[in-house]
Amino acid sequence: MSSPYEATVAWAQAQDAADPLRAFRDEFLIPPHEHGDSHYFCGNSLGLQSRAAREAVETELDYWGELGVEGHFKGRLPWMDYHEFVRDHLAEVVGAQPIEVVAMNTLGVNLHLMMVSFYRPTPDRHAILIEAGAFPTDRYAVESQIRYHGFSPSLSLIELEGDEPNGTLSTAAIERALAEHGSRIALVMLPGVQYRTGQAFDLKAITGLAHKHGCTVGFDLAHAVGNLPLQLHDSNADFAIWCSYKYLNGGPGAVGGAFVHSRHAQAALPRFAGWWGHDKHTRFQMGPDFEPTPGADGWQLSNPPILSLAPLRVSLEIFHRAGIQRLREKSLQLTGYLEWLVRNQLADVLDIVTPAEPERRGAQLSIRVLGGRPQGRALFEHLVERGIIGDWREPDVIRISPAPLYNRFVDCLTFAQAVRGWKDAT
Ligand SMILES: *Cc1c(COP(=O)(O)O)cnc(C)c1O
Repeated sequence: MSSPYEATVAWAQAQDAADPLRAFRDEFLIPPHEHGDSHYFCGNSLGLQSRAAREAVETELDYWGELGVEGHFKGRLPWMDYHEFVRDHLAEVVGAQPIEVVAMNTLGVNLHLMMVSFYRPTPDRHAILIEAGAFPTDRYAVESQIRYHGFSPSLSLIELEGDEPNGTLSTAAIERALAEHGSRIALVMLPGVQYRTGQAFDLKAITGLAHKHGCTVGFDLAHAVGNLPLQLHDSNADFAIWCSYKYLNGGPGAVGGAFVHSRHAQAALPRFAGWWGHDKHTRFQMGPDFEPTPGADGWQLSNPPILSLAPLRVSLEIFHRAGIQRLREKSLQLTGYLEWLVRNQLADVLDIVTPAEPERRGAQLSIRVLGGRPQGRALFEHLVERGIIGDWREPDVIRISPAPLYNRFVDCLTFAQAVRGWKDAT
């Protein structure tokens, strides 16, 4: 079968010219490098700044200057309700009902807040299941919650080892773990896309299996949100959390997000409460008794950071216009092209860790450099010098993530040519 791809500049440029989403690139600031734009493959770590972000922040600074405290009630988007102005587009991008999502805090904070409500260990059912090699925050968070409840991680933390060649996890392995340990697992906490391997998980299948065993299910969507079209409501997960500075382009340290399934919207779940989670209609009566706003809003603690929400709000408008489904279609093409280049032109230098099945990954390819760490570091530095920006994961992996909002086929080809040039010169 002939390949749909070609490793020529003419072919890559033709793809870019025919790309229906190509104009979105102009809505972003591409970090410059020497004589032109860099080739930025780091949207999985820090997404790029939208051109609209500066004006959005400056508008709120202006209101602050002109209105002072009145900015809570006046201005185009009064601060009192500001988090609600991101809600619909946030719900759209994660496939949730508006009542199920809230932009608040940061990922780590939200993970703890959600576990306060959804990790309720008992003497018989106290374990948390995570994947081996989880992101440090996730591991620290579940471990500290286990200890906080008086249990011991050595008995209550189950870290599921990958059963597939590159350390990825099959759904069958998750099913086996649940069959073996399900009755003592209180919470299954897995990623949407694993940060190290780039593997995408089947949220609905996992939730179905875990619920069958009576476990609560939460997902960390740090690398999934804005990357894959999600159907969080239909997945039936109990909760999810994410950050907004990766594919969502919310800016460094942007406000994170949380999802609480609508079946919990009215439930009197235990939680750590704050005034902004109190029923909006009676919040300013300042009464002593906490009455949560129904839905995810009821988990808010504080009045939100407006200057941090502003770039997220305009970024989510871009996602709304582009459409997460159309972005995914382009992403499949871009990452497919990158994969083809690596497998066909660079098999003597690079080995892809991320699953080959497109439905089991997002934009990112985690690529192991053959020959170990010194080779890997040398190649990584060679790429950085040429303005090709991926990121490095010890001991020998480069993560390359073409983001469909601003990356081009030409970027993927430039990466491949630079790797080839490096190898041929060594
Ligand atoms: C990026 C990332 C984090 C970072 O958490 P912050 O609270 O935003 O610092 C946590 N977990 C995973 C899986 C991540 O990918």
